[in-house]
Amino acid sequence: MPFSKLGLSDPIIKAITEQGYTVPTPVQAKAIPVILSGRNVIAAAQTGTGKTASFVLPILEKLKHFETLRKKRIRALIITPTRELAVQVEHNITQYSTHLNLTSLAMYGGVPLEPQKQALIQGVDILVATPGRLLDMYTQRAIHFDEIEILVLDEADRMLDMGFIEDINKIMDKLPQERQNLLFSATLSNQVRALAKTTIAKPVEISV
Ligand code: AMP
Repeated sequence: MPFSKLGLSDPIIKAITEQGYTVPTPVQAKAIPVILSGRNVIAAAQTGTGKTASFVLPILEKLKHFETLRKKRIRALIITPTRELAVQVEHNITQYSTHLNLTSLAMYGGVPLEPQKQALIQGVDILVATPGRLLDMYTQRAIHFDEIEILVLDEADRMLDMGFIEDINKIMDKLPQERQNLLFSATLSNQVRALAKTTIAKPVEISV
């Protein structure tokens, strides 16, 4: 099945074709239509399955209609366990959005706050962040969560293993109630299911 049958539009298809993608991977074929429909999703997918594009592409599709709005507040928040993953995901967003007018930022700890604050002031549609730095920025009132429509917890099992559960719960408490939630994890362990159960209403479950 081609990408165009999944509900993605031309600027996105063009960008992924330029990346050399011809057919969706199984997780993309399953997840993209469900995410476009607005449902919450929990998905079991390992790195290497194409999981990043399976949430990034429908997020771009959903946000692109408002790309001309001048006031740019964060509308999609992707939380990752590590700086490396944040950088990788943000890099993919940049690749897939070359024909759209959306901005993204990777935000992580261990580097000065100031450049990231400046980038936030310039306007960011899609933020990819690690939990600690994200909370720091929130506490310092450098970031606003009130326009967030979509939350992604990427590699949720690793975030739990790394002890981020408290930070994640604090962050989720501060997000708008009315939002779409997507959780990706290598495995849907009992702990991951427990996290999903308390925070993600009626999810569609996907596994590949
Ligand atoms: P991920 O599982 O998201 O880490 O993706 C693994 C690799 O597969 C990345 O290098 C992607 O660029 C690549 N990829 C993702 N989707 C596709 C696709 N449909 N066709 C070819 N390569 C892909």
